[in-house]
Amino acid sequence: MAESKRVIVIGGGIIGLASAHFLAEAGQKVTVIDRGQIGAACSFANCGLISPSHVFPLPGPGAVRHGIAAMLKKNGPLRIKPGLNVRLWWWLTQFGLHCNLRDRMSGGHGRHALLSYSREFYVNFIPERKIDCDFEANGCLMVHGSQKTLDEFDEINAVLDKEFDMGAQKLVGNELVAKEPAIKPNTAAGAWYYPQDAHLRPNMLVAGWKKLLVDAGVEFIESTSVTGFEMNGKSKAGGIRVYKSPDAKVERPKKFSGQTDLLEADSFVVATGSWTPFLNRELGCNIPIQPGKGYSLTMQRPSVCPEFPMIFENEKVAITPMASGYRIGSTMEFVGYNNTLQSQRLGLLREGASKYLQEPLGKAVELEWFGWRPMTPNGLPRIDRSPRFKNVVVAAGHNMIGVMTAPATGLLVSELITGKEPTLDPRPYAIRRAS
Ligand SMILES: Cc1cc2nc3c(=O)[nH]c(=O)nc-3n(C[C@H](O)[C@H](O)[C@H](O)COP(=O)(O)OP(=O)(O)OC[C@H]3O[C@@H](n4cnc5c(N)ncnc54)[C@H](O)[C@@H]3O)c2cc1C
Repeated sequence: MAESKRVIVIGGGIIGLASAHFLAEAGQKVTVIDRGQIGAACSFANCGLISPSHVFPLPGPGAVRHGIAAMLKKNGPLRIKPGLNVRLWWWLTQFGLHCNLRDRMSGGHGRHALLSYSREFYVNFIPERKIDCDFEANGCLMVHGSQKTLDEFDEINAVLDKEFDMGAQKLVGNELVAKEPAIKPNTAAGAWYYPQDAHLRPNMLVAGWKKLLVDAGVEFIESTSVTGFEMNGKSKAGGIRVYKSPDAKVERPKKFSGQTDLLEADSFVVATGSWTPFLNRELGCNIPIQPGKGYSLTMQRPSVCPEFPMIFENEKVAITPMASGYRIGSTMEFVGYNNTLQSQRLGLLREGASKYLQEPLGKAVELEWFGWRPMTPNGLPRIDRSPRFKNVVVAAGHNMIGVMTAPATGLLVSELITGKEPTLDPRPYAIRRAS
């Protein structure tokens, strides 16, 4: 076990929590700081899918064509409105440069390593530590409304099978309804069934995990924003500048010129999700993250509730049946740090579900929600030391797979901090100068 030192984790989302877990297991004294409440940002009401099959990143052959079509379309699942946002234009250009087969495959290998480790971790950890989070490992259905897209997937499935051992079972027409009777007959062309996938209720995972961490001696500080680092010598950070942020509900950090306190530690982890670029200058690098806004609706379980979680591929709408509720989620907007809850986008979720499901909506709506996915142009997170400080590790940019890759990320973070030989090859997640 490494010598016990003090580590401050900045950001109490799922990535910060998983980092705290592995650091505490490695014998470190850990404090987690959040500008708002622990687990209340993007890790709160996302779809909770744990899908090792989500190997391929968003950029890939054909993605630019789809992106341009989306910019021209008024009410599609993907909405891009860059306006005068120079950073977003730059990010879109970088994304475009990654839209080729070579980057898709290398991105796939980087994601696969995180996904596979994390899936195995959850399957053991959640029942062993008795975390009550509606965890179920019964697979996931990718439902296609059109025969064309269902069949186009044959080729992708062959690659998933050969390269990643993640092949799925094709269900055509009635075979799908026989497997999942919650689907209306004659509405879908079929589906691909991924038996290795699982799902859970993310806010319950965060709450349960936090409780275990408190019991293990991890300290949590809420409503406290980090604005920057204090140097300790030439290449190390000695402390962070923080201020109490009673206005933490304001999603976009304002420039702060008031009184800050200094918190000292031996090492720091930056797990600030979509907000990470606000610390770029302090970190001495350009972490290329844009918020990819997604929505969800949480309801009571309908009486004809699906047994399997599913994604309607053509509409990009996900359904998560949970023991304690029922969620419809997804859609993607690139509109900067916009924090309005658009009822039109929630309407798209309802429409997508209504197209295929016997009983698409549960009785009472418990929560209408949006979150900012921390999107990177190549679909890979950055898990690496900051170029400016050798004792600051960044773990951010988990795109649409933060819950399903958190354990592997936390493990790598703890190994980078304690100087242990990394279990996973860290190179795919390196911070580069450009993107
Ligand atoms: C609709 C939707 C569906 C999704 N479905 C899935 C899914 O099925 N499976 C999956 O794996 N992923 C899914 N995701 C993606 C997933 O939610 C994210 O990848 C993940 O939550 C990112 O976790 P994080 O810890 O990096 O960020 P967050 O959860 O956003 O946490 C970052 C934290 O940092 C804090 N912070 C920021 N700046 C500062 C600062 N300066 N000082 C102090 N604290 C700070 C914030 O307050 C926040 O609490 C979905 C996302 C959306 C929107």
